[in-house]
Amino acid sequence: MRTRRRAYSAQRPADLGGAVWSVPVPIPGSPLGYTLVYAVESPAGPVLVDAGWNHQDAWTALRDGLAACGVDVREVRGVVVTHYHPDHAGLAGRVREESGGWIAMHEADAAIVRLMRGMPVDSHREFQAEMMRRAGAGAEAEAVRASERPDPPAQPDRELRDGDLIDLPGRVLRVVWTPGHTPGHVCLHLEDADRLFTGDHVLPDITPHIGIYPYDRQDVDPLEDFLGSLTRVAGLGEAQALPAHEEPFADVAARAAEIRAHHEDKLLRLRDMMTGDAAEPLTIWQVAERMTWNRPWSDLAPVQRGLAAGEAAAHLRTLESRGAVRRAPGAPGDPVRFTATSQ
Ligand SMILES: [Zn+2]
Repeated sequence: MRTRRRAYSAQRPADLGGAVWSVPVPIPGSPLGYTLVYAVESPAGPVLVDAGWNHQDAWTALRDGLAACGVDVREVRGVVVTHYHPDHAGLAGRVREESGGWIAMHEADAAIVRLMRGMPVDSHREFQAEMMRRAGAGAEAEAVRASERPDPPAQPDRELRDGDLIDLPGRVLRVVWTPGHTPGHVCLHLEDADRLFTGDHVLPDITPHIGIYPYDRQDVDPLEDFLGSLTRVAGLGEAQALPAHEEPFADVAARAAEIRAHHEDKLLRLRDMMTGDAAEPLTIWQVAERMTWNRPWSDLAPVQRGLAAGEAAAHLRTLESRGAVRRAPGAPGDPVRFTATSQ
């Protein structure tokens, strides 16, 4: 697994043909290594897809990488961000400052950015710690309360909806709304070249994080949304995928089907586990501890445990909406507990 994930140092800006370039932008201290920022040229100036992490080294890599492709960052017409996460949207504000261009983002993620920007850092930490306690976490909740949070990204100037055309004169770049990894994640279909900028939605070797926050929410089902978004992208056929991490690959439909199968399998195994442990209803934390992760639970740092619990919660929520698990009754204020149904 993960054979294609390469170090940032091995990456170079690349001319992908058809007036599309990719620029690797480092993510300091992250095992993900780098974000691929794409530049799409048009007679009215280039548009970027994503921008990278907000850090001076990342900025230098973006500016110099674009220059190596013949693109002056000051001439950028706009930045479309696939979703609000800091490794995608972080530098969008800096690009806007330098170029005077616009930032576009799906309206659902723009709403999250508005919320984040309005929330003091302390109350964000408190929100996270409280969410973890409600899921049955112990010491992890305190550790997260003391952790760092990246600055929220810049508020976009333009809010996107499914099917919108990006302002890129002479080319056809259409928004394909793919909720799941975030509520407002979008892929961008360059219809004049049958290429799909997939952001984090479809990556060649890894799968994006799908979580629910707060964990015990019942009004959303991001994993089912994600599976629907995979089906949607699979409907685009054999388009070349230009993902935000790792490297471009052929046949987005085949990879989307593979990721769907991976999650359906994970759902089956979770359902089996819940049936096996059915005597005792389990908290989200207990479920996360029992699931299989890329490292043993004891090796996961508190923040990683928090993400694993988010992923466990998303899978439980999908099983719940499909009728395979339910919430056990409990006293108010108790952590929520799940149990298998007799279906
Ligand atoms: Zn992401």
